Amino acid sequence: MSEKLKLAFYWAASCGGCDVAVLDTDEKLLEIAKIADIYFWPVAMDFKYKDIKALDKDFLDVCFFNGAVRNSEQEEIARLLREKSKLMIAFGSCACFGGIPALANLYDPEEILSWVYSGSFSTVGKNGTRPLTRVSVPEGELTLPEFYTAVYTLKDFVEVDYFLPGCPPPPELILGAVETLVSGVLPPRGSVLAPDKTVCDQCPREKQDKKVAAFRRPHEVIPDPDRCLLEQGIVCCGPGTRAGCGARCVQANMPCRGCFGPTDGVVDHGAKLAAVIATTATSKDENEAAERIGQIVDPAGTFYRFGLAASLLRGKSLKEEN
Ligand code: SF4
Repeated sequence: MSEKLKLAFYWAASCGGCDVAVLDTDEKLLEIAKIADIYFWPVAMDFKYKDIKALDKDFLDVCFFNGAVRNSEQEEIARLLREKSKLMIAFGSCACFGGIPALANLYDPEEILSWVYSGSFSTVGKNGTRPLTRVSVPEGELTLPEFYTAVYTLKDFVEVDYFLPGCPPPPELILGAVETLVSGVLPPRGSVLAPDKTVCDQCPREKQDKKVAAFRRPHEVIPDPDRCLLEQGIVCCGPGTRAGCGARCVQANMPCRGCFGPTDGVVDHGAKLAAVIATTATSKDENEAAERIGQIVDPAGTFYRFGLAASLLRGKSLKEEN
């Protein structure tokens, strides 16, 4: 490849961890800088939207878009960057599946606004003042983005070429993706740039195929560091979650939270996780089985922690309301 790659990075509804993950490539970032020029990275430098608008269609080689879409500004920039980029990568779990921000889809927008602007303990001035999309002041009209009724994935609005999941994507996967892009030998469009295996496949813990006697939360037990966490009753999403992280949470004695989403062919990650975990608690006694499943605290937040916006439960139906 003779010319340098032209890259863009954008941060929508997310925590910023994906941008930090880019920096986590450490000195390899300098190697990326040798083969690529960054044309847009608002979190790192003062780029302007007008500069991107002035670019020709497909001027950028690759856009790494992190974050879900929660408001009209994020949708507008997603569409703009799509138009200007040959390849659009949903970067991180929020862009891929909605991520943690999409847990807000469990609540009505009115509940969210009223909690934030008048109900929460830390709200100052509980007079109910809400942000408006347009306000006239002596200097002119001020505008704010429109707050959507739900959190969406990137592909709800634009075509996505590749998905790079993780909360955040680990540096090795980021570098692997850049190497793939530089090589020009691209996987089929729509591919997930992570192995089509589960976290259990990469997990070094010993599995004895034991049924769970009782579910417990991580802070309620000191687990055996060598045995499968799930078999010790700690809800671990490893059996239904894509690998690519190197099983780093389970190696740190914490259960897999499911941030890499499902493996290929799974339509609904949360449903898959619920089904897999339920099989570990099977009991011939119906009441006992129900009691055991009832020990799982916050099942919606546990099984849909990262995937609610992409799920069958809270996906398209809410989009149609906007
Ligand atoms: Fe490892 Fe969790 Fe799978 Fe058990 S369930 S093998 S702890 S990833």
